[in-house]
Amino acid sequence: MGQATRTTKLLLHLGKRDQGGANADKQAALTATVEILNRARAFYIDFFLAYADKLAERVHYYSEEHLEMRERTISANELLTWAEACTVETEAHPHPSSGWSFSERFPDLPFIYRRSVIKDAIGKARSYLSHRAQWEKSGKKKGKPGLPGNSDHPTLYQGTYSLQMESAEVKQRFVRLKVYDGKAWRWVNYPVVCSRYFEQRLHDETWEQQSPILVLRAQSAELHVPQSKKITAKKVKDSKLDADLVTVAIDLNVRNLAVITVRQHGIIIETVFVTDHGLDQLRYRHLRRIAKKQWLSGKPVKGEHSNQQLWRHIDHMNEDAAHKVARIIANVCARYPGCVLLFERLRKIRVGRASTSRRMNRKRANQLRGKINQYAREKAFAACGTVTVEVNPHGTSQYCSRCGQLGERFSFQHGKRIRVKWGKLFWCPHCHYEVNADWNASVNVQHSFFSEFHWQPRFKRSG
Ligand SMILES: [Zn+2]
Repeated sequence: MGQATRTTKLLLHLGKRDQGGANADKQAALTATVEILNRARAFYIDFFLAYADKLAERVHYYSEEHLEMRERTISANELLTWAEACTVETEAHPHPSSGWSFSERFPDLPFIYRRSVIKDAIGKARSYLSHRAQWEKSGKKKGKPGLPGNSDHPTLYQGTYSLQMESAEVKQRFVRLKVYDGKAWRWVNYPVVCSRYFEQRLHDETWEQQSPILVLRAQSAELHVPQSKKITAKKVKDSKLDADLVTVAIDLNVRNLAVITVRQHGIIIETVFVTDHGLDQLRYRHLRRIAKKQWLSGKPVKGEHSNQQLWRHIDHMNEDAAHKVARIIANVCARYPGCVLLFERLRKIRVGRASTSRRMNRKRANQLRGKINQYAREKAFAACGTVTVEVNPHGTSQYCSRCGQLGERFSFQHGKRIRVKWGKLFWCPHCHYEVNADWNASVNVQHSFFSEFHWQPRFKRSG
């Protein structure tokens, strides 16, 4: 059994007022809410650090499973109840601990928000204390962990937000949030940007919805809605014994972003080439422009970002391509239920000596490979429980996929065969096999998984 999670982002429409976005008051209310919650979180972080012993308290409980009394550390829920009893004025506890009256400092903060910041504070305080304990044990002088910060994206539990999706038109959607406008807490409607795909995603029965997070950025405000799903997947060890096993191997490259080969009974039964549609060239041109602008403007001003829009555009291009390729891979996997997805273990690729823009472009091409790998395994696992295996990448692009001998790569230039390291074609001098180099590599990923040719399993070192 496994669990898949995904996050659906819901953009709050906060454009200019005359362009149909929310007005300035609504924007200010969001900022004020995040700010007051940060202060409330800081209060509880201080509180828990002052009572650090309580966080490590051991409690006794009766274990139904082992039929005996056992000991464990205090749970977050128990800490929450305890913290509320100490800091919040109620009829049962009219006098909170001296100096720690939350009700006095933050009157009428909704209790749901209070609980969410207490949970955040417990996590932050605990992680700080364990890091500090580790640092003290190591005896190092440097690297003392700093006190935990109070800022975080607020979690919206049930009762502080509601999505209003009932209206007939797709374009008109609102999210109701409980926000602080500087004086009081009230419900405010925020228009949201959403499409029919978004709605399908959010109301998908098979995915369980969790509490959304409010992410406030300089340019935008978003609600991040996490969803999770239980997945049953077979162990790779068991799948490997299956004679009818289908394997889907991926070779990630620059021009051919992915070459997908599907193999069953030792035969390649399907091949899909995913090209980048000129992404590499386009990105290179953007980066060259940035490099030129940087060179013209000289030393960068400290604390100031330049070329923000171009950088954002490049990041979006990469992200978009990664999701698209990953979706194609996941769709291929979905056609073969019970298949295993194979990737090469990603190598650290050194960016050699080249111009600034070329080096920046190589770096982003490598990032893209990592992203495709990550997204494809997430999507394939969530869609049909496909498990991913990373195989030994040794020589996948250098060896012949037909006979297993060392071959060479070449390209055609002006009608002549020219032997180059990164040639588009592969040639084997032993069996005279000539084939697309990326396809050859993809088939070799299959060989590597089945430990064929020179990809023999290494004996485990003992001791
Ligand atoms: Zn060969």
